[in-house]
Amino acid sequence: MTKVYYNGDVNEVALKGKKVAVIGYGSQGHAHALNLKESGVDVVVGVRQGKSFQKAVEDGHQVVSVAEAAEQAEVIMVLLPDEQQQKVYEEEIRDALKDGDSLAFAHGFNIHFNQVVAPENVDVFLVAPKGPGHLVRRTFEDGAGVPALFAIYQDVSGEAKDTALAYAKAIGSARAGVLETTFKEETETDLFGEQAVLCGGLTSLVKAGFETLVEAGYQPEVAYFECLHELKLIVDLMYEDGMAGMRYSISDTAQWGDFVSGPRVVDERVKQSMKEILTDIQSGKFAKEWILENKANRPQFNAINNSEKEHQIEEVGKKLRDMMPFVKRKQKEVVSASAK
Ligand code: NDP
Ligand code: MG
Ligand code: MG
Repeated sequence: MTKVYYNGDVNEVALKGKKVAVIGYGSQGHAHALNLKESGVDVVVGVRQGKSFQKAVEDGHQVVSVAEAAEQAEVIMVLLPDEQQQKVYEEEIRDALKDGDSLAFAHGFNIHFNQVVAPENVDVFLVAPKGPGHLVRRTFEDGAGVPALFAIYQDVSGEAKDTALAYAKAIGSARAGVLETTFKEETETDLFGEQAVLCGGLTSLVKAGFETLVEAGYQPEVAYFECLHELKLIVDLMYEDGMAGMRYSISDTAQWGDFVSGPRVVDERVKQSMKEILTDIQSGKFAKEWILENKANRPQFNAINNSEKEHQIEEVGKKLRDMMPFVKRKQKEVVSASAK
């Protein structure tokens, strides 16, 4: 089995005497910065003026511009939105990199697709928590952590692996388990997971089920409970105990329906589509279209986003959730594309 690294496997010394610049103070940024600091790491936050900047100041960090933070630090962790990274890197980070610095990421997109081309005199690694930033923070406070992947792209110091693992430990991930991967594997599997299963696959499955019931004349409220609300209860069981554990808890009728109807929903055609989606990720077609969409100021993203918000399932869902205050998130969690 692949080696899983835990706290005891980590050489903490790798971060001693180094300053870490956390660039961006959003979902991942706030969690990394706070966890690092509470683990005794010297942290500076680099972000543009605005809401995040204020929040980082209120959280007690030393907060400066991106260029200034990159200048001060030896480890520069880039936690900006993926589509902003190239521009900010070229304008504010590149010139601040010194021999032996580490340039780090939480997702491999920009390095793997050559949007950010790092100089040859720095280490390049990623530490990618497999969960949303707000859980990276909350689990850390609870004494646990979110599992993470790490990968080394460039190792000029000969210590990139130690640094990456020490970083993973300081954000709490080595309490839960850290696995080694490559930039290629992390980038392609992360994109595939969020597109085919976690985000894209799931929302389309829920919508199709809801529409099928409503079009057949059933009450939208009943369809909502059946196709969306109950999902969490099922996923929690799978998360805790796998598919067999979930099936142990459901009725035998539900389990028989699962066996005979599941493969009719996700059939060979669906799997063929998944393979095509994976091919588009591997070939760079998806990345190119997303980069161009951003260059054009997101016309398609915005149009789809607006029409999705008007779907009947959102209207019904809002009404029902307002009647179930216990369902509301305790603190608003910014859940980004990585199912996060
Ligand atoms: P967010 O969108 O939550 O946060 C982005 C931060 O960057 C904000 O503080 C924002 O400030 C700042 N920012 C945006 N543009 C600029 C700019 N031009 N100059 C300076 N600061 C800027 O990002 P995420 O945390 O979601 O993602 C960060 C990285 O982590 C990505 O690589 C992502 O793939 C990865 N990742 C994210 C996960 C998640 O849970 N969200 C999970 C695993 C990996 P402002 O408030 O001013 O807009
Ligand atoms: Mg039922
Ligand atoms: Mg992602």
